[in-house]
Amino acid sequence: MAIIPKRCEMPVQDAAVRAHNFNEVALGYTVEMAVAEAGRCLNCKNKPCVEGCPVNIAIPDFITKVKQGDFEGAYSVISMSSSLPAVCGRVCPQESQCESKCTLGIKFEPVAIGRLERFVADRHNECGLDNDLLPAPNGHKVAVIGSGPSGLTCAGDLAKKGYKVTVFEALHVAGGVLVYGIPEFRLPKKIVAKEVDALKRYGVDIQTNVVIGKTLTIDDLFDQGYEGVFIGSGAGLPNFMGIPGESLKGVYSANEFLTRSNLMKAYAADSHTPIMHAKRVAVIGGGNVAMDAARTALRLGAEHVYIIYRRSMEELPARREEVEHAEEEGIEFKILNNPVEILGYRNPNDRRDPKNGFVTGIRVIKCRLGEPDERGRRRPVEIPGSEYEIPVDCVIMSIGTSPNPLIKNTTAGLEVNRRGGIVVEENTGKTSRDAVWAGGDAVTGAATVILAMGAGKTAARAIDNYISGKK
Ligand SMILES: Cc1cc2nc3c(=O)[nH]c(=O)nc-3n(C[C@H](O)[C@H](O)[C@H](O)COP(=O)(O)OP(=O)(O)OC[C@H]3O[C@@H](n4cnc5c(N)ncnc54)[C@H](O)[C@@H]3O)c2cc1C
Repeated sequence: MAIIPKRCEMPVQDAAVRAHNFNEVALGYTVEMAVAEAGRCLNCKNKPCVEGCPVNIAIPDFITKVKQGDFEGAYSVISMSSSLPAVCGRVCPQESQCESKCTLGIKFEPVAIGRLERFVADRHNECGLDNDLLPAPNGHKVAVIGSGPSGLTCAGDLAKKGYKVTVFEALHVAGGVLVYGIPEFRLPKKIVAKEVDALKRYGVDIQTNVVIGKTLTIDDLFDQGYEGVFIGSGAGLPNFMGIPGESLKGVYSANEFLTRSNLMKAYAADSHTPIMHAKRVAVIGGGNVAMDAARTALRLGAEHVYIIYRRSMEELPARREEVEHAEEEGIEFKILNNPVEILGYRNPNDRRDPKNGFVTGIRVIKCRLGEPDERGRRRPVEIPGSEYEIPVDCVIMSIGTSPNPLIKNTTAGLEVNRRGGIVVEENTGKTSRDAVWAGGDAVTGAATVILAMGAGKTAARAIDNYISGKK
């Protein structure tokens, strides 16, 4: 078999056009492209890609089916391990997971596993038949807190075993970060809705607008007859830097900014949710969330959007593809820069001055790279006397999030670590509280969709073992 060294490119919207709309950037493979890309897989003996996938999808098996043109067969293979393939095919960091292990990748470009997964899921969503077989009820009730990838996966796996699962979600729409955080131009919301609907067909009941810790407590759930509880409440509490000026008008956390735009559709003329349409925006941070916030600000009409990041381009934690897309769209990278103060217009003599209290700029200090830290990344070292100001009218803080303490504060016996993550047993997701499991960002702090899904799967297995063992 002749080896094709380069992967089949996926068409994307032109950068100059997409910078002004919220439509999806990547357009997906055609049938011909998918079959050609699948043809590059060596179907090697050891299948290292499967190990590289946190939910162990039988990758070579689904790719073989694509090669044969059996796209529904490919979908069946993927759905044995993943309940969110159209999501994972779009947002998983495949380059550091399955694709990083691809044998072809040792000498050439690895097989585009993520793009093929996306193709198969989209194809199923367009033309496939949903002939799910409803499992016989087993008479047991489980509660899931949070409808992000960890909660949805846990709920789906248990429902497929006959459990009556209720998901309690604080927001008015199910999906967690997939709906409120990741923008439409990377992950269209109709795709998330489709995957949530598939779970509902398995009998999963999703109750939105229920905040566990306020509307109901975990003790209330046990009183209502739930025999096990999974906490998948994510890490939605934004971190700030603690620098002067953070309470000025025009300073957002990335979570607030993205929630306003994605979930509340603040960009639409008929939305009741306001958002700032700033002309010059500084986004602090260098992860996926920072790229999403910057590209959203651009689409809302900003003329200059700066990513302010204290290390170099090599250390940017965002996915390479997202950084490239951001650069193509015109996002300006001010790397090796650290903010020291957010500047604002203050007129103490006239409180009715309409400019009072608004952001006018950001003062940053230049950095150089020093010795590596405990994670091996070179530390930023500030260069004395190198401070300068950048005029901006909006600052978006994107320096990470932590788990919200609400559930911990209302649940006796639930141990958390010093970063607020729920402490669990590694192989089961079991917490220190009887009959309560946890997983995803609520345990690890901000991480990835696929790791959250993996944690949901692990907990579902453990909950099933626990409840079926009681019979
Ligand atoms: C902007 C952004 C971009 C990202 N991009 C990527 C990416 O490209 N690739 C990737 O792999 N990962 C990405 N991530 C990270 C990824 O989305 C998360 O790691 C993942 O969603 C975590 O899943 P989860 O189920 O643990 O929590 P979440 O998705 O956060 O879901 C938790 C849910 O619980 C609900 N909840 C919280 N508290 C309560 C309560 N007390 N009662 C009831 N419900 C509650 C929340 O409303 C939320 O819906 C991104 C994150 C963000 C914010």
